[in-house]
Amino acid sequence: MATPLTAARLLGALRAEGVRAVERSGWRTHHRNHKGPWGGVNGVAIHHTAGTNSLEFVWRGTAALPGPLCHTHLAKNGTATMISAGRANHFGRMARNAYSAMVNESPHHPRPDGAEPIDGNRHTYGIEIENLGDGRDPYPAVQYDQAVRWAAAICRAHGWNQHSVIGHKEGTRRKIDPSFDMNAFRGKVAERLRHPAHWNPEDDAMPLSQEDIEKVAQRVWEKDHFIRVPWGTEANPEWMAKSIIVDTGTRLRDLQEQVTALRAAVCELTAALAADHPGTEASAAAGGRVITTLDQPATRTEPQP
Ligand SMILES: [Zn+2]
Repeated sequence: MATPLTAARLLGALRAEGVRAVERSGWRTHHRNHKGPWGGVNGVAIHHTAGTNSLEFVWRGTAALPGPLCHTHLAKNGTATMISAGRANHFGRMARNAYSAMVNESPHHPRPDGAEPIDGNRHTYGIEIENLGDGRDPYPAVQYDQAVRWAAAICRAHGWNQHSVIGHKEGTRRKIDPSFDMNAFRGKVAERLRHPAHWNPEDDAMPLSQEDIEKVAQRVWEKDHFIRVPWGTEANPEWMAKSIIVDTGTRLRDLQEQVTALRAAVCELTAALAADHPGTEASAAAGGRVITTLDQPATRTEPQP
């Protein structure tokens, strides 16, 4: 049992959750608290209107079923109009097993009993979602998202989880609304409750697949007009990273070949000098070193005295 939110707190919670709530004049005092108790509250109930343009209808109701008929009316375009912050004629009687499941936040929402001893209007907030309810009329994404936010906002404000959210059809055998799957809806509410109130699902970066990663890697290496190279031509001053790597490797191998050739020439020259002047400064001509390979440390020979 929880104390019902005041009109101001209800509106604040909804707006913090991203509900595009519009205040209908007089909604804060539009209720049926004089006809029966309001609270403690235990959950939120989801309805479809089974009609079109039902805003006036849910405000006024009928002689047999006087308004308000919900706390919020949700239009197809996602506009959430505030109708009431008190007792509203949206639920009617409720089965005890359904009520207990909601109170206990049970993950199992049983088929409601036939007997209906509970006053659903006392214990639940209700939203009327504009939809024909024939299973063919779609719920636009913006409307569905606003409904999820509406339910999540009230759960968050009371510290409830997604199992405090039930469809009207889950509380009584008399009803079939809403026409969408409530477990999927509760899943969306739970997802919202794992995030802060201001969270938008599209804020989360899309996870990259392995294929995406491969594509990104290839794009990086093949991105042209990216790196200016000192040896670029006027017509092509900036190269792909891939071309720079390949070009650098080619140049490095050319250099290695040149160094090897030079080394051979020096050795040849050293040998020739030694033959012409045996026992003299032959090795000194090579700087006192016999260079073997680039990779190994030079082996020193002592200069001749
Ligand atoms: Zn209903």
